[in-house]
Formats: sequence, C-alpha cells, structure tokens
Amino acid sequence: MRLSDRARDLPESGIRKFFELAEARDDVISLGVGEPDFSAPWAARTAAIDSLERGKTSYTSNRGMAALRERISAHHERYDQSYDPAEEVLVTTGASEAVDLAFRALVDPGDTVAVHEPTYISYGPGIELAGGEQLTVPTRAEDDFALTRESLEAAGAAEADLLVLCYPNNPTGATMTEEEYAEVAAFCRDEDLRVIADEIYSALTYGADHASIATQPGMRERTVVVNGFSKAYAMTGLRLGYALGPTDVIDAMNRIHQYTMLSAPTTPQYAAIEALDRCDDEVAEMVEEYNRRRRLVVSRFNEMGLDTFEPGGAFYAFPDCGGDDEAFAEELLEAQGVAVVPGSVFGEGGEGHLRVSYATSMRELKEATDRIATFVENR
Ligand code: PMP
Repeated sequence: MRLSDRARDLPESGIRKFFELAEARDDVISLGVGEPDFSAPWAARTAAIDSLERGKTSYTSNRGMAALRERISAHHERYDQSYDPAEEVLVTTGASEAVDLAFRALVDPGDTVAVHEPTYISYGPGIELAGGEQLTVPTRAEDDFALTRESLEAAGAAEADLLVLCYPNNPTGATMTEEEYAEVAAFCRDEDLRVIADEIYSALTYGADHASIATQPGMRERTVVVNGFSKAYAMTGLRLGYALGPTDVIDAMNRIHQYTMLSAPTTPQYAAIEALDRCDDEVAEMVEEYNRRRRLVVSRFNEMGLDTFEPGGAFYAFPDCGGDDEAFAEELLEAQGVAVVPGSVFGEGGEGHLRVSYATSMRELKEATDRIATFVENR
C-alpha cells in the first residue's frame, strides 16, 4: 500500500534494534530497558481490580476523571506547581500522548523546535509528525549534561519557536537546579520561547528535590509540563500520564485529544487516584532502592575506569566508554551477554557513552557489572 511520506520517512528506533539483538540469546542480563522492574503498588492494582468488579468500564470525561485531576493538582503542590484541576490539567494515555498533543497544539509547519541532546528518542519524530523542524542543542559531559544559556546561544536556539526540556533526563540521569533553570528561563523570556517540560522522572531524584522551569518567573504562562504514572508508580503498562499548563493550551490539547483518544483509559485512572492518595511510602521505598543501585553502579563504573558522573535523577547511569559506543555495546553483548544502549542512539553528545539502566535487581546489577569489568579488562 502507498504510505504517506511522513510515515515512510520516520526512522526505526535505535533502542529497538538493540533489543532484537539481545533477545536472540537467553543468557543476557539487560541493563537496556527504560522501565521500572517493580510492579505498581498493590493498593493501586487493587483499586483497578475493584473498579472493574464494580463495572466501571465506560469512557471518562475527555479531560480525565475530575477526582483524578483534583489529586494531580494537589500532588503538584510539592513542586510548587499550581494548576486548576478543572481547566489546567489533561489526563492522557501515557506521558507519550501528552508530548504528542503538546507538539500538535504548539507547532506550525516550518516551526523550529529546540531539543537538547542526548535525550529521550520520541521528541524528534513527534516534532516531525507535527510538521516542525528540530534544532539540536548539544549538552556536554563537562556540564554534567545540564542545559546552559551558553549552549542555547551557541546552537542558535534564539531563532527557535519552542524548547523541549527533559530533566531528570533520559538517558543521562542529569537534573537541573533552580539556579540553572533561572538562566534558561531568562533566555526563554528574552527570546520568546515556549517550553514543553517533560518531567516524568520528577519523583525519582536522589538528594536535591526536583526543580521545574515552570516555577521560574514568567514561565508558567509559556510552559506545558508533562508528567505521568509510568516511572514513579511503576505503571508503564497502564498507560497513564497528564499535561499541566495554561487554560488555552490545555483546551487546544483537549480538542485534539477528544477526537484522537476520546479519553484516557478508565481502569488506570482508578489505580492512579489510589496511587496519589495512598502510595507515597511505596514510592519512597522504590526511590531508596534505586538510590542504592545507583551508588553501586556509578562506583563500579568509575572503578573500571569508565568515567561516570553522578546522576541526580531517573534510573540511568551514563558512563563514558572511551570510544565507539556502538562497537562497545555490541562487543559487550557478544562477549559477556550484557545489554546496554549505545549513547549515540540519544543524539548529539551521546556518542562515546552508554545508557545503563539500574531498574534491575541488585543481584543482577552486581553480576552484570562483574561481567562488564571482565570485558573491559580483556578488551
Ligand atoms: N518521557 C520520557 C523522558 C521517558 O523516558 C518516557 C518513557 N520511556 C516517556 C516520556 C513515556 O512515558 P509514558 O509511559 O508515560 O508514555
């Protein structure tokens, strides 16, 4: 069948290609996946089951259940973010849908969207599908992959219409402080840039609390915040996320959403209400466990001589492998049966690095890092 140019031109995901290689063997320890190894908290799962037993299988309101939007709004006060549940919150099918809707609502054909790299792989294709063009802003290992005003200026981002931010970052684990955001916010105000801030890893920070560009002066009215339940609540398969933003943008996103999705799935909305009401302790336990693993992984890589900066969030370490990352990852898989993702998959600045997910049991992480150490010694 003849395909649209847009569909034909979309590239294959570099991550998937790698998984296919890993799946061909059965002795592989995968540090490649970008999702929690935990299950959703039991209370959240029970609420989902209970809603099904009560026959709650209809659509919800387009914007999501009012009770859920109220909880989301209240939950975000912990980040000093304040959004009206009736008009400024939209519940979506994963953060993925929220990102897609934001592009569709904010990008006109020919618009330029600045994206810092290395970063999550979905933004480029999302921009392309919305008819926009990506302008890449490389971030640097020397800055621990934080975005700076200097790098925005050097990349010519002053000419862009929109900026996509992803902190805590996938794949680097980098976070941004209030002070670093102040610089970027000043640039956005000076150059009249709107922002999509993907903050899906906001709950997974180690040490410093999550900061958001949306709380910088003058930024709330030019920012759409994306978040969701996949990471913090280990609910990836339940497909629930949301967007927070000014009424006019959320209205526009909801108009697209009501034709393309109608409403986010109902069962997970019941799970999400329970997650927000009663699962803070479980989230804290998961964060504590990720933090233990993070310390192990970072110190083991540094001991091996693969320089690894201390990631402040998410569940990824981003060691410098000192050369061709694709060759390193392929040879490591071949020789030791450990799957990691080459950093270059995540764009400019990712080359020479590996994305190592520590959303894997401590036992497997110890075994995997032993194998990597053997590989590095023999290489
Ligand atoms: N943003 C980032 C930065 C992610 O890492 C992911 C998941 N890998 C998503 C968005 C998509 O999340 P969801 O499951 O909520 O669609």
